[in-house]
Amino acid sequence: MIPLKLDILEKSEHKLVLVVEGISVEMINALRRIILTEVPVMAIDEVIILKNDSPLYDEIISHRLGLIPLKTDLDVYKLPRECECSGFGCPLCQVSLTCEVTNTTNASLDIYSGDLKSNDPKIVPVDDFIPIVKIDKNDKVIIEAYAILGIAKDHVKWQAVSNIFYRFYPQIDFDDSKCAKCPEKCVVSRLCPEKLYDFSNKKTPRLMDEYWKTCTLCNSCQNDCPEEAIKVGWKDNTYIFSIESDGVLEFDVVMKKTFEVFLEKIDEFVEKLEAVEIES
Ligand SMILES: [Zn+2]
Repeated sequence: MIPLKLDILEKSEHKLVLVVEGISVEMINALRRIILTEVPVMAIDEVIILKNDSPLYDEIISHRLGLIPLKTDLDVYKLPRECECSGFGCPLCQVSLTCEVTNTTNASLDIYSGDLKSNDPKIVPVDDFIPIVKIDKNDKVIIEAYAILGIAKDHVKWQAVSNIFYRFYPQIDFDDSKCAKCPEKCVVSRLCPEKLYDFSNKKTPRLMDEYWKTCTLCNSCQNDCPEEAIKVGWKDNTYIFSIESDGVLEFDVVMKKTFEVFLEKIDEFVEKLEAVEIES
């Protein structure tokens, strides 16, 4: 087994793409599933609607509020089940957000996520312009909401990332000696839907240097070549791992928490295994 290697291919506020080398497919899938379902984030879980003149039912507004992504601080807050408090109003596991809007204009008015006032300035919606509801003139909405930490295993609103997937690292072998230099066929068939071959020398198609970044392993170049000069495959134990976030957590926090959860799971497994051994 080759040692674990990790390269950052792309990193921005909302997207992280890594090349991960040296772990099995089971392992990378375990990491993917932990990131997707077990990294805790904040979301509104309880809503008290004191006034609602809008055309939407209370339940629809509550559902919308629950789905607003909130910036999360994992250093301060605990999951309610891990908190030693008695429940309501605890500053270690709960944040309150309020929204009071009266439409004093002469037209309809949109209420956005930015109208939610949080009692912790660090726990606020990631975007101020997520629409919640529209109200008519002279109408009023008063809402009290409580956000808590949770995991997506319980409800998707607590999902730390918006999209996550990995794919095999493409490896295409082009055998120049087998190539019959029939560019007209290659050119006609266009060989690759992602246009990863360069036909500029009019003789032999040349594979672009960074083809692996966009190759979808569709096999069309291998299938289209009558001379069997192209072999499409992938590198063993190497993946392109892509994570997209709506901004609730920084990527490094997501990764750190993922490994914490992973190690907890291994400890729990060992503990349970030992208990079984003692019993038998
Ligand atoms: Zn608490």
